[in-house]
Amino acid sequence: NKKTESFEFQAETKSLLDIVARSLYSNSEVFIRELISNANDALEKRRCIELSQEAGTSSDVPYEIRVTTDEAANKIVFEDTGIGMNREELIDLLGTIAKSGSKEFRNQNIDSQTAESIIGQFGVGFYSAFMVADKIVLKTKKQDSVGYTWLWNGSSAYEIAENEETTVGTRIEIYLKPGDAAEFSRRQKVIDIINKYSYFVTVPIILNGDRVNTLNAIWTMNTNEVTQEMHETFFKQLAKTHHPTLVDDRPQYIIHYKADAPIHLRSLLYIPAHKVSQLEFTAEAADSGISLYARRVLIKAHAKELLPRYLRFLVGVVDSEDIPLNLSREMLQNDLVIIKLRRILTDKVISYLLNQMKKDRIKYLEFYQGYSAFFKEGVLLEQDQTIKEEISKMLLFESSNFKPGVYTSLSEYVERMQKDQKNIYYLFAPSRNLAETSPYFELFKKKNWEVLFITDPADEMVLLFMLQFQLKNIESVENWLKNEGVETVEHEKELTRDTNKKEFLTWVKSNLGSVKVNDIKPSSQASDHPFIITVAAEPGVARHLMRLGQIKD
Ligand code: ADP
Ligand code: MG
Repeated sequence: NKKTESFEFQAETKSLLDIVARSLYSNSEVFIRELISNANDALEKRRCIELSQEAGTSSDVPYEIRVTTDEAANKIVFEDTGIGMNREELIDLLGTIAKSGSKEFRNQNIDSQTAESIIGQFGVGFYSAFMVADKIVLKTKKQDSVGYTWLWNGSSAYEIAENEETTVGTRIEIYLKPGDAAEFSRRQKVIDIINKYSYFVTVPIILNGDRVNTLNAIWTMNTNEVTQEMHETFFKQLAKTHHPTLVDDRPQYIIHYKADAPIHLRSLLYIPAHKVSQLEFTAEAADSGISLYARRVLIKAHAKELLPRYLRFLVGVVDSEDIPLNLSREMLQNDLVIIKLRRILTDKVISYLLNQMKKDRIKYLEFYQGYSAFFKEGVLLEQDQTIKEEISKMLLFESSNFKPGVYTSLSEYVERMQKDQKNIYYLFAPSRNLAETSPYFELFKKKNWEVLFITDPADEMVLLFMLQFQLKNIESVENWLKNEGVETVEHEKELTRDTNKKEFLTWVKSNLGSVKVNDIKPSSQASDHPFIITVAAEPGVARHLMRLGQIKD
């Protein structure tokens, strides 16, 4: 029998291991993710080295990760045909907290494409196994070295002994603690966990003989390499693991965006084709559709910190290797990297949609009709003035310049404004027909000033709230009439010399005035309407509130 040596862990003792593991990982199931990531890294290192060697030296050993569950023995085993570890590495890497052989390897092979696929960098992943294990047996062999067995059985020390192993790679047997941890010896439980966290690692994962992961992490690929079919399959997989309500859906817009500076970012965002009501999304309020990955490994599903709430209808993946290790919880919201990512993604989504609006108005309109409520919410809630103005560019309105069913954006409206026109004008009416026959509109028609026709109270709210767009005031036609429609007032004296009209005016004022009428003005002689009766001092807001009141009554 070979000699067995005993070692103390470098950084304090077992209890520290436990504390480290528990403070880093909110959820013990992530040990499966961590051990698979390590196996992936070991395989990618082997690939990297074989690629850099003379042709013909690469072995026929398949690149794969084997996971085996054994419910009877309450254990789970991870095997890889990766690079393996020699004695020094076992001591140095597994025995020292926060020492990452993978990070070093990547730094030494910075030019290699393959090194890109290596996940590890913090040197603490392996310790997650201490949350669930009461014994770990690790056997490993490196090319040109003898094999070693590394054994830990719950104490503050571990043992290393040579073994007879001849195949290169690493095998880790996790003897699970009784109780909660026992579920990790159940096949179905482990499939679910692999699907959730590790589905997109680059190497095949075989669980009890069957392949689990069959799709590529297409968000890391070049945009032009990803086909429509790949997008649809990927969307289905995302829906299956994170968004059950979307399984029968498909994407209508695809935003595939990559950047290396100022932050490393690979993102793939989808807008589902089916119109999803705002309420449905509100019901799933906590559920953002975005999953946060670091190097193809899931860090957090439903990462609502990555986009503003009004963009919660987007579904997809954001991958950044720059996200810090301990972001699994409260830290996420205030983390600088996350704040930057959120700004970049928000800008990207909005500029993408504005571009689509220019490129294919028919498709955009169809999309807009399903999702416009989210943008109105955005205009009302976004704190950043620049972003707010960008969102308002996505809004569409009917206008007096076009026939019903044709829409204009505010930017387009501004481009068409007349020389003598200062503001952006809108008219709210229960229907398009009433808007066009309104005496207010008549005045604008004469001036040849375009008026936005608003029939949706939500649109009116948004315009009232915005006040300005591109430094132009947004004003209701009623308001304009009250403040600047001076011509009509000048006419007033003249017209009220007509005794019939004067009498009528007095009659209307005394009979209706006490109830709701705010003001009555004779309109200009040429008008089809002899009088204009305004019913509230602050027309838009008040009428809106009155209407809400009516609904309640
Ligand atoms: P990280 O993966 O962030 O580097 P870990 O604690 O998960 O940190 O692993 C520490 C180191 O141990 C790795 O960097 C790697 O060098 C080594 N290691 C872990 N698992 C394996 C394995 N299955 N095969 C080869 N080396 C491994
Ligand atoms: Mg690791």
